[in-house]
Amino acid sequence: MSKEKLGPVRLRVAPSPTGDPHVGTAYMSLFNLAFTRKEGGQFILRIEDTDRARFRADSEQQVFDTLHWLGLHWDEGPDVGGPVGPYRQSERLGSYAPYAARLLADGHAYHCWCSTERLASMREEQQKNKRPTGYDRLCHGRTREERAALPGFSDTPVLRMLVPDDVDLTFEDLIRGTVSAPRPDDQVIVKADGFPTYHLAVVVDDHEMGITHVVRGEEWISSTPKHLLLYRWLGLKAPQFAHMPLLRNVDKSKISKRKNPAARLTWFQEQGYLPEALGNFLALLAYPPRQDAEGNDVEVFTFEEFAKDFDWRKVNPVGPIFDLKKLDWLNGVHIRGLDLGDFAHRLLPFLTTDGVLGDNPSLGELARLRTVAELVQTRIVTLTEATPLVAPFYVADDDLHIADDARAGLGPDAARVLDAAIESLGALDDTATGVLGSEAAWTAPAIEAALRSSLIDGLGLKARLAFGPLRTAVSGARVSPPLFESMEILGRHSTMERLRRLREQLT
Ligand code: GLU
Repeated sequence: MSKEKLGPVRLRVAPSPTGDPHVGTAYMSLFNLAFTRKEGGQFILRIEDTDRARFRADSEQQVFDTLHWLGLHWDEGPDVGGPVGPYRQSERLGSYAPYAARLLADGHAYHCWCSTERLASMREEQQKNKRPTGYDRLCHGRTREERAALPGFSDTPVLRMLVPDDVDLTFEDLIRGTVSAPRPDDQVIVKADGFPTYHLAVVVDDHEMGITHVVRGEEWISSTPKHLLLYRWLGLKAPQFAHMPLLRNVDKSKISKRKNPAARLTWFQEQGYLPEALGNFLALLAYPPRQDAEGNDVEVFTFEEFAKDFDWRKVNPVGPIFDLKKLDWLNGVHIRGLDLGDFAHRLLPFLTTDGVLGDNPSLGELARLRTVAELVQTRIVTLTEATPLVAPFYVADDDLHIADDARAGLGPDAARVLDAAIESLGALDDTATGVLGSEAAWTAPAIEAALRSSLIDGLGLKARLAFGPLRTAVSGARVSPPLFESMEILGRHSTMERLRRLREQLT
């Protein structure tokens, strides 16, 4: 791709690889990408890895993996390349010096030799005297020698912006309209080690990468006037800005990885949420439901539907509450919307991790999974919940463990129920198939009819008392997929074995 073909819009997400990816990275990417796709531009992944103290080596790969898992694919980035690379800040270090030099030469930036101790005591003094905190410009206008003669001198200077008194503190935000930010301090733009700070790097990178719209969290609002100053001083065209509302915990505090496991993107994968549901959930956090033809709210949608008529003005600037109950609901809806083969396929990694299936399931095991999955699909909220429901279909009859609560709940009629069930089911013929329409075939309807007649009509029991012991016998649990269908899938032999096994334990 040549640079001339860029556009019409170019957006980026710029995570710092400082550990497990934050859910905010997915949330920002989702909104960035929705607008990019609607406008037909490029979405860029830039890794802001210059904070070496917080850098984690495996974190970048986790960012790639989790965003791909969510279907939020980028057009340019460190792994796929692109026309304006490199896409890792640590590989762009050479590019910032000329901009810094120009700011210094033009008098928009100055060296500051104040030691950290001096800055700390200055701040303390300001706080004590209830004055606004901020750099007091001791170094401004002084040569190195002049400054060295004063206390609190450090050998390696930083570079600071000389923020003018009449700095424009308002800017236009695509979500919020006119925004005003507090007056900034003389921001450090090059650190003592020569590395640019975020503020210089973000402006230079966004410019050099042709970014047209900067979409980021609202915590950056106070930095935007500084960035706009840098654009102006450097004679660069500033991008448009959209500051997304921060995600909040139910108690309104900011979502942090320390306090909330759900701040980690990998948590959602581990818990068995579908990427479609998480994307839908993150979109709804800051975006209104769609409307159907009759004008009703539709909360369940795909990324494509979300992106189709995306509009920044619809984003709600008020910090959305991260309510996992809503996600659970959406996840159930998206699970039920999957076609059966896809659903079974999504269960596989969980069943493997949980030891229900081996790494290389046989064709027979996979075929059975499809039939079991159909029974389970309407009964779970997260994919992890499938494991206990599916597991009984993959254990040998002798190895089926009867859970303590299920055993305790068997009730006084269990032995008679099992005897009657064994007898009536024994009369069903599993050589005939349901397809042929034989009434005595081993099919769920035939099993149900036989059991109803022997237990409910014959023994005069209520359905719960009649079927509870049978459920425990075949699944080992109190809760299982529907009983008659389960028996059909298990087959006559296994079903009878399991009924007999429990019956024997009761004598
Ligand atoms: N690295 C910054 C962050 O992780 C990027 C902020 C921005 O998008 O400008 O929040």
